[in-house]
Amino acid sequence: MTQKITVIRGDGIGPEIMDATLHVLDRLDAGLEYEYADAGVAALDKHGDLMPQATLDSIARNAVALKSPLTTPVGGGFTSINVALRRHFDLYANVRPAKSFPNTGSRYGEGVDLVTVRENTEGAYLAEGQEISDDGEIAFSGARITRKGSERIVRYAFELARGAGRRKVTAVHKANIIKSTSGLFLTVAREVAEHYPDIEFQEMIVDNACMQLVMRPEQFDVLVTTNLFGDIISDLCAGLVGGLGLAPGANIGEHAAIFEAVHGTAPDIAGKGIANPCALLLGAAQMLDHIGQPQNAERVRQAIVATLEAKDSVTGDLGGNGTTLGFAEAIARRL
Ligand code: ATP
Repeated sequence: MTQKITVIRGDGIGPEIMDATLHVLDRLDAGLEYEYADAGVAALDKHGDLMPQATLDSIARNAVALKSPLTTPVGGGFTSINVALRRHFDLYANVRPAKSFPNTGSRYGEGVDLVTVRENTEGAYLAEGQEISDDGEIAFSGARITRKGSERIVRYAFELARGAGRRKVTAVHKANIIKSTSGLFLTVAREVAEHYPDIEFQEMIVDNACMQLVMRPEQFDVLVTTNLFGDIISDLCAGLVGGLGLAPGANIGEHAAIFEAVHGTAPDIAGKGIANPCALLLGAAQMLDHIGQPQNAERVRQAIVATLEAKDSVTGDLGGNGTTLGFAEAIARRL
């Protein structure tokens, strides 16, 4: 059976890491068929639109997209394309695994294996109603949390934990101070947790969670939190395991899912063929899990681990001098 996916090659290093990723995926015989679609500056240049309707239609039709980083031009009234995509498809769950890999120069070596589940559609991150007074002295930004939004994200975290054989979900909050929004999130998290007696539930205040993540990251399994805390904590977790070159993310909704690298377009190294393709490739592995091919997902992860272990053709960010495609070829050989 074939599975059609929308492929967005993106901007900056996007096309290079996408070509490398597809090179590895092609080796899997996973039955994937690629429907290419444009977005970002590449689409603006070609079609005069950062997010053409044809691209939205393609994602809606296929329900699964693999996306390279996109540039949102600064100024000109453009809103972030990534935020717009999340909103358009109501991709409420941002799922970011962070797992130790060998030879990354990370200060933690082994032992980190956690997933951050970030609410993607509400909360302080959206900065609703934000404004600055005319005299520039006072700024305001709103935050709205809903029972529905909190319930579905916490439920998603517990279902993920159960499905992946994970044992604990930690709800990260600031309900002691922000009793309204963070308080509602925590109340709902407690209610949802009661439906999952097989999974341990833990609550942790966000500042303590940051300290604990740095001191003893191995104690965590699945973290679930609101949008802004999730934004910060998931980058902290990427730092625990070797940085942006190895950090994938999934944006998941009921009717569509978009898989990506967490990093941006890296304009400083674009076009040089030296970007690390692993973050997007790990995003592709999350996609394989999502479409019911966990064995292929695991094959990809194991091939990456083996390549890192052998320090074979690794890119500059990991201390090597390999090329994007050379690194991908070394991974593909190990499948
Ligand atoms: P954007 O504006 O698109 O977010 P940016 O340069 O501000 O781009 P990133 O693209 O995330 O932010 O890059 C941050 C730093 O990490 C840059 O120095 C970049 O070269 C490096 N970097 C990001 N992704 C990779 C990668 N896949 N391989 C190697 N280095 C990377």
